[in-house]
This record gives sequence, C-alpha cells and structure tokens, in this order.
Amino acid sequence: MSTSFDTARRLILQHAPPLGVERVMLLAAPGRILAEEVAAPCDLPPYDVSAMDGYAVHAAGCQAGTSLKVTGFIPAGGRPSPVVTSGCAVKIMTGAPVPAGCDAVVPVEETEELSGVVRLLSAITPGQHIRLRGEDVARGDLVLSAGTLIRPPEISMLASLGRLTVPVYRRARVGIVSTGDELVEPGMALEPGQIVNSNAFSLAAAVLECGAEPVLLGIARDEWQSHKELFSAGLECDALITSAGVSTGDRDLVREVLEALGVEQQFWKIDMKPGGPTAFGVKGKVPVFSLPGNPVSTMVTFEELVRPALLRMMGHRRVIRPLLKGILQEDLRKGGGKVHFLRVQVRVEEGRYLVSTAGDQRTGTLRTMVQASALALIPQEATFLPAGSEVDFHLLSEDVLMLEPQNTPIPQPRAEACR
Ligand code: AMP
Ligand code: MG
Repeated sequence: MSTSFDTARRLILQHAPPLGVERVMLLAAPGRILAEEVAAPCDLPPYDVSAMDGYAVHAAGCQAGTSLKVTGFIPAGGRPSPVVTSGCAVKIMTGAPVPAGCDAVVPVEETEELSGVVRLLSAITPGQHIRLRGEDVARGDLVLSAGTLIRPPEISMLASLGRLTVPVYRRARVGIVSTGDELVEPGMALEPGQIVNSNAFSLAAAVLECGAEPVLLGIARDEWQSHKELFSAGLECDALITSAGVSTGDRDLVREVLEALGVEQQFWKIDMKPGGPTAFGVKGKVPVFSLPGNPVSTMVTFEELVRPALLRMMGHRRVIRPLLKGILQEDLRKGGGKVHFLRVQVRVEEGRYLVSTAGDQRTGTLRTMVQASALALIPQEATFLPAGSEVDFHLLSEDVLMLEPQNTPIPQPRAEACR
C-alpha cells in the first residue's frame, strides 16, 4: 500500500524528536538552536555611556553661547572623572562613561574650544547623546528564548552578556550507506556496467548543509551479510540513510535486512514522484530513511522528507521550507494520483516569481537538478495546469534565484591578485 506524501512526512516528523542538549563554545554555536532561555545577568549598556565625541555637561543652565571650563578628558575605556560641577565640562569620546553631574553630551561639531574653555554653539536638551545604563537590556530581562536559531546577532548578545558557552541541541550524526554491486567510488576507472557512487556524496553534502554530521559508511554489496554489517554500523548513529535497493528488484534487500535488524517499518511507498519507492522505519530512537537509488530521487526525497526530520532532531522549529507561490510559464500535464516535485527555475519579475520547468524531468537526468533553483509541488489530483496558473514551490537556495535587475556584477580579479 502506498502512503500519501503528507502522511509520510507527518509520520517521519513524529519519529524525529529533538536529540539531547550539549554545551558548546560561543563560536561553535552559529547555526545551532539554543536549548535554554537566556536572562541577562547584567545591564546593557553597563554604565551611562557617551554616544558622541564631544563634551559632557550639566544641561541645566547651558544654552547656545554658554562657555564652560574644560576640567578633564575621558577616552573610551577611561574611568569616569570626579563629579563635574556646574560651569564646567569634560571632553568625552564615544563609548566613554559619562561622569557624575553630567546629563548631556554636546557633539564636538557644535562647540568651539579655545585655551581650555569650550563655547556651546547650539541649544542643549537633557539626556542628549547619552545611552543610559540598562536602556538596551536590563538585568534579569529575558533576552533569548529556547528554540532560537543562533545567528550573529544572538552571538553578539551572548558575548555582550559575558557568556562563553551556550547550551544547544546536539548535531545529528547521520550514517550513510549506498547499496549496489554496480557502484564504484569517484575517481576509479569504470568497468562496463559500473556507475559512480554519487549518492553518498550528494547525501553527505545535503546532511552538512542542514547542519548535521555525515558518517560515510561505504557501499553495501547486493548480498545479505554486506548489508547487515553496514546497516548495523549505521544504526549506531542518530539517523541512518540508505540509498537504492528499496524497490522490488530481485536484489533489493534493504527492507528485508533492516527488518531482520529490528527496524520497525512505518511505510515503504509514497504517492510522490520522484521518490515513490521510499521506505521509512525506526529502531528505538533511530529513524531509518531508505531512499530510492536514482540520484535525482535521492536528492528530492532527502530535501522533502529527510531534511525536515534532521532539522527537528537538532531542535529547529521551522523545519519545512516556506511554500512560495509563483506563476507557471508553460502548460503542464501530469498523471493523477501522485504529488509531483518538478525541477524548476524561478525568476523574479515585477515582484512576482515566474516558474519554468528546468527541462527533462526523468529521474535519471541529473543535469536538470543542477539547473533547478526550486522544486514545484504539483498536487496529487492535478492533471493539467495551463500557463498562468499559480504553483507552489520550495526554493532550494536563494543563491540560484534569478533576480532582476541582476545582482552586482562580479568584479574581475586584478592580474597581480592572481599571481
Ligand atoms: P536500485 O534502486 O538499486 O534499482 O537503483 C536505482 C538506480 O539508481 C540504478 O540506476 C542505480 O544504478 C542507481 N544508483 C543506485 N545507487 C546509486 C548511487 N549510490 N549513486 C548513484 N546512482 C545510484
Ligand atoms: Mg540496486
């Protein structure tokens, strides 16, 4: 029996709960998900600080034309000077602590200094150009909630609060096993009947791209023992991905061996194209994805089914790419009964996404996968979509989106820079 795409993805996500938590150094945290909320142990800024280079003054009694005696100088990193009394000013640099007795900073551009006396050229408002202690973050404020993706701004906040380590969800270690007697590793001479094991590489790259850690376990040959050895090693990881050998061929052993190893099969066929012969099972906490062998099917099923599961295991909340809407540029016919994932090119024109097929959609055609910037989701029941119809798509990478007008041209390297 075949499972609908939505049911398959829901089942997979149900069996991929977040892994444990670990504490990592601050610079190992970008791209990870914060596992605990963070409250501020101190104020930010930690003291009243000057936001300009200028003169710290007591605003009351100052106006345009007032002259004040300059009694000190506070650079950034300097200590606050003694209390500044009325009729006096202190020269102060951006980032320096504002001394007691002052409640405004007059920018240097709005002053004239001569022989230790500064004349103010403009009106003064109390509080001007001072960032008050705790005005950004007050001690005890909840600044980051659990589940937050850690980006440079979060790193900046953690560093500012003095945190050197961060509790984050663990990265998933993902075992990858290719199956097939025809496979050889890249770079080896091909005998007739052999093909390169590209799936191990595309899967490892995809695993890395979503922030997980690939564990390349090699090629299982088309016999029981070889499958058993490599799959057993794979079941020691947080998740296992196998490629090929999962349909009904005479030598398709994947499902049988997994079952013998105690993997409970949840489904083994999905109403999707490419990717129909995809199986999914679980052993204990380890989800096992058995993907079809055609390189395009392997990548599409990883993208649509495995990636969301790995992201969820690593604590992400948004695990499915946003479904964007574009305008189909050509007529499209398909059989009913399956969701189709079309390799498409997307360009932006007048603020709308225009979607064209990337060409040959057969699963053996790798080139159109390379040329695709997105996967369009054509619903199960649809059989004909005329040009101009609205279609949903998952953008695979913003980098491959064709923008209009063109991005900044790539600068040509100077000759000497190449030497
Ligand atoms: P199978 O599911 O074993 O019948 O394989 C389906 C197709 O995928 C065949 O054409 C295989 O040669 C191809 N294939 C299987 N494994 C890989 C792999 N690791 N890398 C590239 N192509 C593969
Ligand atoms: Mg095979």
